[in-house]
Amino acid sequence: MNRRSKSFFFTIIFLAGFATPSLGWGFYAHRLINYHAVFLLPSPLFGFFKIHIRYLADHATDADSRRYAIREEAPRHYIDLDRYRLPDSLQWPITWPMAVLVFGEDSLQQHGIVPWWIFIMKFRLQKAFEKNDRDQILKIAADIGHYIGDAHVPLHATSNHNGQFTDQSGIHAFWESRLPELFAEQEYDLILSPAVYLREPSSWIWERVLESAASADTVLRIEKELSYALNQDIKMAYEQRNGIVIRNYSKRYASAYHDRLEGMVERRLRYSIHAVASFWLTAWVDAGQPELPQKGP
Ligand SMILES: [Zn+2]
Repeated sequence: MNRRSKSFFFTIIFLAGFATPSLGWGFYAHRLINYHAVFLLPSPLFGFFKIHIRYLADHATDADSRRYAIREEAPRHYIDLDRYRLPDSLQWPITWPMAVLVFGEDSLQQHGIVPWWIFIMKFRLQKAFEKNDRDQILKIAADIGHYIGDAHVPLHATSNHNGQFTDQSGIHAFWESRLPELFAEQEYDLILSPAVYLREPSSWIWERVLESAASADTVLRIEKELSYALNQDIKMAYEQRNGIVIRNYSKRYASAYHDRLEGMVERRLRYSIHAVASFWLTAWVDAGQPELPQKGP
């Protein structure tokens, strides 16, 4: 390798296959979810959240950043449902105390706790509304938006989360980052019906998580079939991003995969947005619909 090709080699970032799997919907999609959720809220929540919409979007990925600093953070973003074997006498969902009893805390921390954690965060948001604590409301609202988004991603509900068991490493970021980045702005309809009050937020989020787990096989199978059907030469491509050359799934391959998924990514993104707005609204209603903090400094 001569000097020139060597430097070229080292400026290539291998996004697919070698990078650590992304940590939830990508940065772009998490921002999009929190941002669009604001517009589904009724007054006076809409007015308050609209003032702080930039904060909610900018902090949509704080929870992912914490994963590097806090050991307990990681399992809050996923649940490897296939790793949990429920006794015949039980079926999903089960409460947190029951889960601790059946699986033990260590096992839960290892295989993920996202649906239980969202319920805890909903309670914390409710308390923040009760205390009229603007900073806490915004911080928790941004975070719960993140966790709810993650709960809607099929590969966050399976142990084969990056296709590592099926020779599909890289599929995690492909599905949740590359596809929304390529198609959301041009093709997705993100105008949604207003947020709703959730009578049973816990079973409601569990339903979404179970849907995610049920879709994980499809996400993996369709990519595998496509990989066999198309010429491998067109699968990956190099492109410039912020002055660096990166290797990523090609637009052509992404487009073919996206078509075969028949709207799944758009559907999960729409559900995420609506769910986030509905959780914000539900926490406020359960707090007794208190006055909202005034715009602060
Ligand atoms: Zn995450």
